[in-house]
Amino acid sequence: MSGKDDLARIRNIGFAAHIDAGKTTTTERILYYTGVSHRMGEVHDGNTVMDWMEQERERGITITSAATTCFWKDHRINVIDTPGHVDFTVEVERSLRVLDGVVVIFCGVGGVEPQSETVWRQADHYKVPRITFINKLDRVGADFYRVIESMKKRLGARPVPVQLPIGLEDRFRGVVDLVRMKAYTYSEETLGQTVEEIPIPEDLLEEVEARRLELIEIAAEQDEEILERYLDGKELTEAEVVAQIRKAVIANQIVPVFCGSAFKNRGVQQLLDGIIEYLPSPLDVPAVTGDDPKKEGRHIERKTDREEPFAALAFKIATDPFVGHLTYLRVYSGMIGAGQMVFNPRTQKKERLVKLLKMHANKREEVKEIGAGEIVAVVGLKFTASGDTLCPQGHPIILESIVFPKPVISVAIEPKSTEDEAKMAEAFERLALEDPSFQVKQDAETGQTVIQGMGELHLEIIVDRLKREFHVEANIGNPQVAYRETVTQPFDGSYRFDKMIGGKSQFAVVDMRIEPAESGAGFVFESRVRTGREFLPEFLQACREGAADSMNSGPVLGYPVVDVKVTLLRVEAREEESTALAFRSAANFCIRESLQKAKPVLMEPVMDIETVTPEEFVGEVLADVNARNGEILGTDVRGTARSVQGIAPLRKMFGYATDLRSLTQGRATYTMEFKKYAPVPEKLQKAMTDQSYT
Ligand code: GDP
Ligand code: MG
Repeated sequence: MSGKDDLARIRNIGFAAHIDAGKTTTTERILYYTGVSHRMGEVHDGNTVMDWMEQERERGITITSAATTCFWKDHRINVIDTPGHVDFTVEVERSLRVLDGVVVIFCGVGGVEPQSETVWRQADHYKVPRITFINKLDRVGADFYRVIESMKKRLGARPVPVQLPIGLEDRFRGVVDLVRMKAYTYSEETLGQTVEEIPIPEDLLEEVEARRLELIEIAAEQDEEILERYLDGKELTEAEVVAQIRKAVIANQIVPVFCGSAFKNRGVQQLLDGIIEYLPSPLDVPAVTGDDPKKEGRHIERKTDREEPFAALAFKIATDPFVGHLTYLRVYSGMIGAGQMVFNPRTQKKERLVKLLKMHANKREEVKEIGAGEIVAVVGLKFTASGDTLCPQGHPIILESIVFPKPVISVAIEPKSTEDEAKMAEAFERLALEDPSFQVKQDAETGQTVIQGMGELHLEIIVDRLKREFHVEANIGNPQVAYRETVTQPFDGSYRFDKMIGGKSQFAVVDMRIEPAESGAGFVFESRVRTGREFLPEFLQACREGAADSMNSGPVLGYPVVDVKVTLLRVEAREEESTALAFRSAANFCIRESLQKAKPVLMEPVMDIETVTPEEFVGEVLADVNARNGEILGTDVRGTARSVQGIAPLRKMFGYATDLRSLTQGRATYTMEFKKYAPVPEKLQKAMTDQSYT
């Protein structure tokens, strides 16, 4: 692959879906029809190619985003498998960052579920063009048009059917292609491999004509010259329709809708055609921008071009059962050969790309070089973490790094033996490189090791991997909520630091204001004092550091303090006697005292929850959410089920999976996601502080 023609035939895409919508099944069919795999894997048999990690097989969910390649009609499709569970939002975010297009799969019965909504918003954020596949049309309760309506209502999207289903539920047979005005059915004996063309069924003709008109009008609208011709009564050619729809998709104006049943092997080949026809190639996406590490505040661009300097983003670190440590790269510009050195501007280290591998789902192809637009796995990178940029030392760039959410839940973990202890430290280091939303801390008071993550399931899986992959035996404590503290009132404080240290006088005075900042702001620092000959720039830096340090442990219960703004109002300095150390200490003591006086409160994570349950258990589910101090936001009808939306404090949500199972005989499902930090109820805060003093 080298020229522009070849780049135009690459698609870097991912599949996104609510859990159970059929992402794994659809991916499996794609690998089968493109000839990558010769046996069709089924999720419930636990033998699919994509879900290669053991837990994924057992739990029937997809966690890691392994990248894999297949070929369709002379195009290379690189598929990045995005995770389906919200606890792994960070992985979804990460893969969206490196994709050029996404296929969003909806369940034909469930429609737009909260998780698909989350992914959709993330894709909006990264401006990733999308096509959609309404799957499971063979299931009882499937409704093509209802899903389209819910895409409009819940996602604010502009869905445009390019296909219509023939029949629904147990009579679902195939699809009508509105661009080519052809109808297809699929042979069961060949697992859908044989696609048969049939006449468009009579009873569908009216609807087909109406929907085609809608499609053609959108296509015509994309280009003035074509629109004029169209209004003059001339037909658009098939190629024109495809090209114009493609333009609108890449501009994020419309979302073409495909449909089928992956499980029954219907509609998947047309979806593959759609990926090629409507999703962008690396040449269709804007040049990537990054920061110039040599000059603060300067942005630089890299185009999808082999002639540009090399720039790549490490988006995934994985442990491969055969080759060990693997780093997945998205190459944005330039090219590089195996055996060459690359520079990492974050670590300031150079590393060698020992081997370059193109990953097919079931085999690895070693390549000599890689270039712009491609996705590749590298053997040999030891110090590169997820989100790092790799480039030549002479042309450094830091690509916009991925923002990772802060963990909201923690659990103490204790190795069973000293041998386990050593292995555990090593394993954690490795896992943290792979997954930036996972953190390890030492509790200063108890000396315990504490691991932190995005939810109960996230931590469960980490502990599981610890056992299986790293053979570490450990005891696990009860999950704990990651509390935070903040202030609710402004307070102006002052501190005078005047001491003899080591026979030398150290002097600094600071006046500082502390006040609440907006939610999510973290720590904000401002200065109204100018630096100069007396108050040196490094003293200002010391004031900022001293203030920031006091945020590590809050006045209520010692949790980190967030969403606070500190303003430096006035200083006193003396020549000879003032030092950075003196200012640092003064600022630190000043803020520590002020935190207590600015009405500090304890904050806790509050979760968004949606539970989908059969009608007969709605009462129990509602009562249970109430019992967890939750607040019901609404309920919806979902086919034959009801969905209940609410918010509740995370501290009350531990074990929800188990409790919900027993309440509903295992027939309800739920999703839970971090929403915000909110103050802990006063009574509870008092009880918690009283308890910590006795
Ligand atoms: P994922 O969680 O999105 O990866 O979904 P899976 O591919 O694991 O599918 C979830 C379940 O739905 C599995 O039991 C599949 O066999 C089943 N499934 C997937 N696609 C279809 C479909 O088109 N029709 C029906 N009836 N079941 C499907
Ligand atoms: Mg899956």
